[in-house]
Amino acid sequence: MSEFDVIVIGAGAAGLAAARQLATARLSIRVLEARSRLGGRAWTWREPGGLPIELGCGWLHSADVNEWCIVASTLGFALDRTRPPWRTQFNDIGFPPSDQDDYRAASARFYDRLDAAGEAEIDMPGDRLLEPGCRWNGLINATSTYINGVELDQLSARDFWRYRDTGVNWRVVEGYGTLIAASAAGLDIALDCPAQVIDHGGRRVRIATPRGELSARAAIVTVSTDVLAAGAPRIVPELPDKIAAAAAVPLGLADKLYLRLDGAEEFPGDSHLYGALDRVGTGSYHLRPLGRPLVEGYFGGALARDLEQEGEAAFASFAIDQLAALLGGDIRKRLHPVAASAWGRDPHARGSYSHARPGEADARQVLAAAVDERLFFAGEACSCEDFSTAHGAYRSGIAAAEQVIAALGA
Ligand SMILES: Cc1cc2nc3c(=O)[nH]c(=O)nc-3n(C[C@H](O)[C@H](O)[C@H](O)COP(=O)(O)OP(=O)(O)OC[C@H]3O[C@@H](n4cnc5c(N)ncnc54)[C@H](O)[C@@H]3O)c2cc1C
Repeated sequence: MSEFDVIVIGAGAAGLAAARQLATARLSIRVLEARSRLGGRAWTWREPGGLPIELGCGWLHSADVNEWCIVASTLGFALDRTRPPWRTQFNDIGFPPSDQDDYRAASARFYDRLDAAGEAEIDMPGDRLLEPGCRWNGLINATSTYINGVELDQLSARDFWRYRDTGVNWRVVEGYGTLIAASAAGLDIALDCPAQVIDHGGRRVRIATPRGELSARAAIVTVSTDVLAAGAPRIVPELPDKIAAAAAVPLGLADKLYLRLDGAEEFPGDSHLYGALDRVGTGSYHLRPLGRPLVEGYFGGALARDLEQEGEAAFASFAIDQLAALLGGDIRKRLHPVAASAWGRDPHARGSYSHARPGEADARQVLAAAVDERLFFAGEACSCEDFSTAHGAYRSGIAAAEQVIAALGA
């Protein structure tokens, strides 16, 4: 069968949420996924010992209002509510408490200025909010590379300010990626089946794939903004405004490296180390996530891009050098690379999560707008307040599905 009510393009958090919602309206739905797995940028990989390794999203941000928590409890997944250790330094190594207080005060002043900038008439790049000469500018900027995937000079202050977060962060014990993939149960999904051309010029949307053509009354496109801006899938008739909006909200880059840690019991579970305090290009290291014998390294922005270019071994050698400088040279032989992501080189993502370029915060609405009640758009970048997250992707998928249901009178 190649005729459907709705075709959903992409089986990530947005596409799966949309398809689940459409299924409640008794519409015939087919999900097309380019990869041979579900979940997109939500990807839990199991290392040979069976430990879940989160290569994409790991934290249920705004967990107290995050719909994935409801899906988790419905599907019988366990949630861990341990608070994230991100802003702490294990044993205060190289970061005395007085400096930590000083840094937190500088960071709070930065966010106060962000509040003022968000309401200002004219948008500005985020680096204008840094205090000239402040010793913590490097670390504040490094934090931007973790949160946004880019340095502050490439970031719209207004867009950053619009992001809403309740400050509650939980984890899925079995993996966020495992949960999102499990939510696909019962849906009709074609894996290894990229949409190549989306033709919305006629009464029905026609979609060309390597396995033949499909048609539907409506389609929801959930591919990442960098994939859309690169013209894959190709949309005909062309939608230049849509492609320009996708390019105005590109993906930043954040990558993870997992190291196995011998003698892990020496370190407390869920502790943290900043690799360095005085520069933008530094890793952030989560020691023993969920008490496991692992270190999760996080790298963003230009540093992640450079390390990807050098290859997977570069992540490990950078991280081990930083950890040895903090913990002593003996730690080297206790750290063993397990896995690293390379989201920038992944052709089906082309990056990690979206940010708006300075002056482009409103492009998210253009991106999310439906075309002729036939072509609909979802994905984390379509959310104006929850972008860059898996729950933002979920909400955008539900919103697009509701629009489709209304348009089809279903
Ligand atoms: C390293 C990293 C850490 C992160 N940490 C967190 C976190 O802690 N918490 C959080 O909430 N979020 C986090 N995120 C972000 C979160 O993972 C994403 O925002 C979310 O998963 C995006 O979902 P999506 O459905 O919008 O896009 P995607 O997951 O990218 O889904 C789009 C799908 O479309 C498919 N596709 C592409 N082209 C085609 C085509 N032509 N035809 C068919 N299918 C196609 C892709 O393969 C993909 O499966 C992180 C992301 C990364 C990379």
